[in-house]
Amino acid sequence: MTVAGWIAPGDSRIGVLGGTFDPIHFGHLAIAEQVREALSLDRVLFVPAARPPHRLASDVTAAADRAAMVALAIADNAAFSLCRIELDRDGPSYTSDTVAALADEAARERVVPELFFILSSEALVGFAKWHDPDRVLASCRLAVVPRPGTPLPARAWLESHLPGGATAADRVDCVETVPLANSASGVRLRVSQGLSVRYLVPPTVETYICDHRLYTQPANRRTA
Ligand code: ATP
Repeated sequence: MTVAGWIAPGDSRIGVLGGTFDPIHFGHLAIAEQVREALSLDRVLFVPAARPPHRLASDVTAAADRAAMVALAIADNAAFSLCRIELDRDGPSYTSDTVAALADEAARERVVPELFFILSSEALVGFAKWHDPDRVLASCRLAVVPRPGTPLPARAWLESHLPGGATAADRVDCVETVPLANSASGVRLRVSQGLSVRYLVPPTVETYICDHRLYTQPANRRTA
């Protein structure tokens, strides 16, 4: 796997926000910013997935469009970067491969790299069934944020649901964030219904969606 240049020299505490970003919305940006602040992160890498495991390839917007929208959305935050690591490699997009590759790169740069994979409490519920969750936890800590409908997990829940029990639970940082109920599926639905997504996505992303006629109808998606 080719990995180069994702970790900037001088960054030692790095957040990794993986997602489909179809499209990126203010919910993503808010959790990234608030986790960055709470955990004193130097940088947050936004990592669009090439092949999201939970959605059919034919039902996902082209990777180029999703990455372009991420780049537009984060352009005004110097601590945010687009990381194309999953888009530039072949094969399935496994978080375990991504964080291991980033940890390897960070280790080459620094003595003790600290990576924090950011995910919501809703996503954490399925974490044990991800590909090689032990390897994910070996490469990074988890920064878990609440998502409306799914509060932050208690320590006992972490110990009983994460592979690795108490040892794994020690690798989790729960971060209280301001709840925003935005979802990408909600944005897609509204656009397909001809409804406004102003104040749900950044203006530049709204313009991109409009200019590229994305999400105009549920089946009108290009494959990644
Ligand atoms: P979809 O609605 O298509 O499932 P999504 O809005 O969940 O998409 P993803 O790109 O799949 O967007 O999300 C990436 C990560 O961000 C996941 O961990 C997801 O749970 C989290 N996330 C997305 N929106 C929010 C939100 N409003 N609050 C907290 N976490 C969120």
